[in-house]
Amino acid sequence: MCRFLTAPFDRRRRGERRGELVEVVGMARSVSYVSAAKLVAMARGNPRVAIIDVRDEERRYQAHITGSHHFASGSFAARLPELARATSDKDTLVFHCALSKVRGPTCAKMFSDYLSEKKEESGIKNIMVLERGFNGWELSGQPVCRCTDAPCKGTCS
Ligand SMILES: [Zn+2]
Repeated sequence: MCRFLTAPFDRRRRGERRGELVEVVGMARSVSYVSAAKLVAMARGNPRVAIIDVRDEERRYQAHITGSHHFASGSFAARLPELARATSDKDTLVFHCALSKVRGPTCAKMFSDYLSEKKEESGIKNIMVLERGFNGWELSGQPVCRCTDAPCKGTCS
């Protein structure tokens, strides 16, 4: 009686799980949002979190988030492989532009799609967008830097 009841159920469940795994590997990672305060807590002492600034020229004359990488939205598509290499030891990437309304989420989605299409193992589990972008970050008094290094080494500010 036990076997009669449980065997088909278990088989079905295992099948579903396998199906889900296949789907996850081939599927774009979903992009979620994170607030500045949460990102500060998340990135503190965690070398596996990288912040990707996709602003264009404005990064030069404005400040930037301490420790952030710069991959301008204008040349973003061409630099996808370079970004993947630069962040190969990370598990979380957080994208932002000035307000994270258009360029930030667009580039985050593009990178997510790129990783899925590449069909290679990547350690990146989370792709996020910083809510309110750089402007919100600066307005809330979070650490910024004005160096000209790319990526920012995070030793200033
Ligand atoms: Zn810097």
